[in-house]
Amino acid sequence: RMTIPQSVRAVLETLERGGYKAYCVGGCVRDALLGRPPDDWDVATDALPEAVLSLFAPHAFPTGLQHGTVTVRRNHQSVEITTFRTDGAYTDRRHPDSVTFTPSLEEDLARRDLTVNAMALDLRGAVCDPFGGQKDLAARRLRCVGNADARFREDALRILRALRFAATLSFSLEEETDAALRRNRGLLREIAVERVWEELRKLLCGDAAAEVLRAHADVIGVFWPEAEAMVGFDQRNPHHIYDVWEHSLHALEATESDAVLRCAALLHDVGKPRTFTLDERGVGHFYGHGPVGRDCADEMLRRLRVSNGFREAVVTLVDWHDRPIPCTERGVRRALNRLGEEQLRRLIALKRADNLAQSPAYRSRQKELDEGEAIMEKLIAEDACFSLRSLAVNGRDLTALGFRGRAVGEALQTLLDAVIDGTLPNEKDALLHRARELSR
Ligand code: ATP
Ligand code: MG
Repeated sequence: RMTIPQSVRAVLETLERGGYKAYCVGGCVRDALLGRPPDDWDVATDALPEAVLSLFAPHAFPTGLQHGTVTVRRNHQSVEITTFRTDGAYTDRRHPDSVTFTPSLEEDLARRDLTVNAMALDLRGAVCDPFGGQKDLAARRLRCVGNADARFREDALRILRALRFAATLSFSLEEETDAALRRNRGLLREIAVERVWEELRKLLCGDAAAEVLRAHADVIGVFWPEAEAMVGFDQRNPHHIYDVWEHSLHALEATESDAVLRCAALLHDVGKPRTFTLDERGVGHFYGHGPVGRDCADEMLRRLRVSNGFREAVVTLVDWHDRPIPCTERGVRRALNRLGEEQLRRLIALKRADNLAQSPAYRSRQKELDEGEAIMEKLIAEDACFSLRSLAVNGRDLTALGFRGRAVGEALQTLLDAVIDGTLPNEKDALLHRARELSR
């Protein structure tokens, strides 16, 4: 039923031969019991870190000694081995002040966050499950180990871990765990924003992301009040049958699991509450909500110290989501030049999802998107030129014609613009001819 990889089995065997207890623990046991391939296999043992280091020398490295973790690397595979431990008090609500090693596997499992993450598996396939993790797995339910309130107060990151697992595993939250995470949501303010984002990003990619966000907008609102402001915001517009938040969640549900795209879907209309106007007939409008939403999303992502590349990709999609997709080769070449292939694909996907989340009467727009997409596919298939990289002349060609310094770049840009606009073919002779004209 469960196949521990050979490299991990070898680690367990070495520990057992040394007279120690050795188990796979945590997420890998959960995933293996669910029949999902685990990302990585963590091993726990009663051997102290020094003993682990000498048992596996020269393949063992002290990668996290303060937590009792040693990494064994062999044949390009690495396995983390952590000594059984209990955690001391958490005065910063994130890191235990101290860790204490213990010879007891059960004590080690008791410090873990959720029952489904608190199981161990040995070489012979025996599962150690003191907190009912298997029962909760079967019921597809997330439950804290011990008192939920106390566990979230110890480490508030567990609030987002619970939501993240609910989204990625499509599990429900046991009632008391759910109530406790809501009660303690304010403690998320004390968590490093990088950790918040790491969990939120994984949450967004989960199959059940929309459901989890729908049920827990109040938790998200602790660090993103702008998102909570979308909840219940009545659009008063015939295009829409949902409030801004519900519409955004429907859009998110209609996208593939790509973090940039999912994040853009969630935030594409974040500018709406700030741009809302009512006309004389009582119809709601949101003029300029793309660019306003762009700035708003930018601020939200900066607050969580999201990487520049990720942030730029998301805010560009938010900014552009309400512009029409071009339906001419020239227009699509321009869009490819401005956005690049990956982002134009995302923009089309976002517009599709946005449209699908509107009133059924307005879903005919899908046809325009199909057309734009077909042109894009054709241009890409025929290797059309939309960037300097694929232009048939380069800087050296222009230098040979006598261009110097900034004039080289300017001339290249002029030629590229002409190719994108279709006034010149992407052919060396034609481009050099035009360049000679420019140099005069
Ligand atoms: P993933 O699939 O994301 O790796 P995981 O469950 O393995 O999920 P990790 O962050 O790798 O998560 O942590 C490994 C194990 O350590 C968890 O399964 C859990 O038992 C324990 N753990 C991790 N973070 C916490 C925490 N904040 N509080 C309590 N236990 C934790
Ligand atoms: Mg893991």
